[in-house]
Amino acid sequence: MKGIVVKPGLAGASFEDIEEESGNGRVLVKTLYTGVCGTDREIVAGKLGITRAERDGRLVLGHEALGKVVDPGNSSFSEGDIVVPMVRRPGSCANCLAGRQDYCTDGDFTEAGIRGKDGFMRESFYEEERFLVKAGSEEVGIEKVLTEPMKNVMKIRESIFGVIGRGLWDSVKGRGAWVFGTGTEGLLIGSVLSSIGMRVMLVNRHGLPEIQQGLAERIGAEFFNSSSKDWASGKKRVPMDMVVDAAGAPSILLDAVGNIGHTGIIVLFGTGGAGMEGKLLGDTILSLVDKNLTVIGCEDGAREHYEQAVDFISENGAKYGLGKLVTGIFSPSSIEVLSAKQQGEVKSVIKW
Ligand SMILES: [Zn+2]
Repeated sequence: MKGIVVKPGLAGASFEDIEEESGNGRVLVKTLYTGVCGTDREIVAGKLGITRAERDGRLVLGHEALGKVVDPGNSSFSEGDIVVPMVRRPGSCANCLAGRQDYCTDGDFTEAGIRGKDGFMRESFYEEERFLVKAGSEEVGIEKVLTEPMKNVMKIRESIFGVIGRGLWDSVKGRGAWVFGTGTEGLLIGSVLSSIGMRVMLVNRHGLPEIQQGLAERIGAEFFNSSSKDWASGKKRVPMDMVVDAAGAPSILLDAVGNIGHTGIIVLFGTGGAGMEGKLLGDTILSLVDKNLTVIGCEDGAREHYEQAVDFISENGAKYGLGKLVTGIFSPSSIEVLSAKQQGEVKSVIKW
């Protein structure tokens, strides 16, 4: 069997023969597609410090996957079921033991394709039933490969509903949500917030490419170029009641605190800002306090969020054109896609 292997801490990846596993009653899954994301590219560049091998200093890459059950083993799955494997595996803290490893308190977990557990960029893999989420039977659209990034958005949605009472919001309907970052996560966040009745403003620092424009039209979102700094005219079009940062630059948090309305909610999801600097002034803290703002840090998601992601994509994938976010399909030997963003890319995927 072949797979894509990295050596944590070292740059590079290779498509090579890897050892076959034994099933021990687990489900055998044939990989259909794996998504490529920024985390994969940081690992391949040797820059993601949290990367850990499963054994022998080597790690099979890949954490966004869609597969087909070829042997259900001792599980309740059927041959032909389409499944999405979960990324994070529980450690031993109370939250992990309760199935909420997304809220792990001691860091004693593993993540497939990232830290301490082989991932899914290989022809097939064995998996425990409890870490597989059913995404359909026999045939599903390619947009289901977005289930893993979408599960993060379902936890963001849950987090928002968990705090709106604090600011005495009667509802999220009609409220304005500014989503910073127009990559895959930003667009998925925009589609979900639109579906719950929010007015969505997609934001980046350059301009909205054609694919993103198509999705913006389908979800009824507006677009704001943040390099204009003309916040006032943007807020006339869509009020800034909520900010979701899917990019991670510290300047976004500072812009958000400065421009968001009273009782606003700021969700920090982006992680791309490591090493960047932003200036935290006492005025920023004063605004946080004075406006009664709520800031939420949010990462990963639990099994229920994967299930909600499958349902959301089934119900809204065609309406919002989510399949169009897959802008390139590559063969497993085209490992150059793991090194650099492709021209016009929203989501590149590898077909196995
Ligand atoms: Zn834990």
